[in-house]
Amino acid sequence: MKKYNFNAGPSMLPHEVVENTAKQLLDFNGSGLSLMEISHRAKDFQPVVDECVALFKDLLSIPDGYSVIFLGGGASLQFMQIPANFLIKKAAYVNSGVWAKKAMKEAKLFGEVVEVASSAASNYTFYPKNFESDVPSDVDYLHICSNNTIYGTEYRKDFDVKVPLIADMSSDIMSRPVDVSKYNAIYAGAQKNIAMAGVTVIILKDEALGKAPRELPTMIDYRTHVEKGSMFNTPPVVPVYSMLENLRWLKKHGGVEAADKRAHERAEALYAEIDRNKLFKGTVEEASRSVMNICFVMNEGYEALEKPFLDFATERGMVGIKGHRSVGGFRASCYNAQTMEGVNALIQTMRDFEAQH
Ligand SMILES: *Cc1c(COP(=O)(O)O)cnc(C)c1O
Repeated sequence: MKKYNFNAGPSMLPHEVVENTAKQLLDFNGSGLSLMEISHRAKDFQPVVDECVALFKDLLSIPDGYSVIFLGGGASLQFMQIPANFLIKKAAYVNSGVWAKKAMKEAKLFGEVVEVASSAASNYTFYPKNFESDVPSDVDYLHICSNNTIYGTEYRKDFDVKVPLIADMSSDIMSRPVDVSKYNAIYAGAQKNIAMAGVTVIILKDEALGKAPRELPTMIDYRTHVEKGSMFNTPPVVPVYSMLENLRWLKKHGGVEAADKRAHERAEALYAEIDRNKLFKGTVEEASRSVMNICFVMNEGYEALEKPFLDFATERGMVGIKGHRSVGGFRASCYNAQTMEGVNALIQTMRDFEAQH
């Protein structure tokens, strides 16, 4: 049976990305060695890193004066590495979800943290807005999480504030054009939208580095990795290669503008069905709805059908639609690799289930 993958992360990748990466695992560039077996210093691997950086800069129109690095440790390590490098005295954070809150907790180890807006009191059912004028002008940066993977809320624009932005874009990077010039840093664990798990991408404004008033361990100082082109120590070779294949795929399919358009088409179709179908309802305020992670629960009066719907959908080949435990219900993750065919299969499943009840 055909599977439709709605996993929140690690998540679906285009089939040709998986296939091409698998081929290189058997024989890397005709070398007779597996991609797993080559040295990261091999002459064939440097071009992989170089092309990834070039594609990143090209696809996101990253201006001069920025570096792109690939590290291990996940987005979670960035929660501390960001303040270690950028927090001089005081930083502002938007508490828009669990990941944002975790980032805030780590930042407090390095300086004063101002929570400028929060949706915690309503279990993060909306994306905080209209707080821009409350951001103190003397903070070193404003940290945001652009897409709240667990709750399905998103802010798909670049905030207008007078201080530099820093963003966790783990679950929506490369899904829309971004005005990188507003940011001191953008980071993303790759396993949601850009590669297999194991690599984290960080975009850094070069002139903002080296200002923090503390001694940094070598591996924590971004300059180490910028200066060595992500080759200070062994980068995650296979995940970086899978990212190269995925960025090539994205380029071939119209880049981030086309990805943005496809994401909106998928999300509009699925939200329309959630709103139409008597059995289901959305979980977040309409204006905050994410086009990446689409969350819904059983409507009032139909709560007992949650498990039966999950079983019904599973039988139809739907994978990974169970919602995060802090929201319950269902979550259909629709990152770049998701197809309209997958979304239509889920919509049909919802309709067929409704017809039985
Ligand atoms: C998944 C996720 C993280 C955590 O990523 P790891 O790579 O597992 O550390 C952080 N932020 C957001 C927005 C996420 O979706």
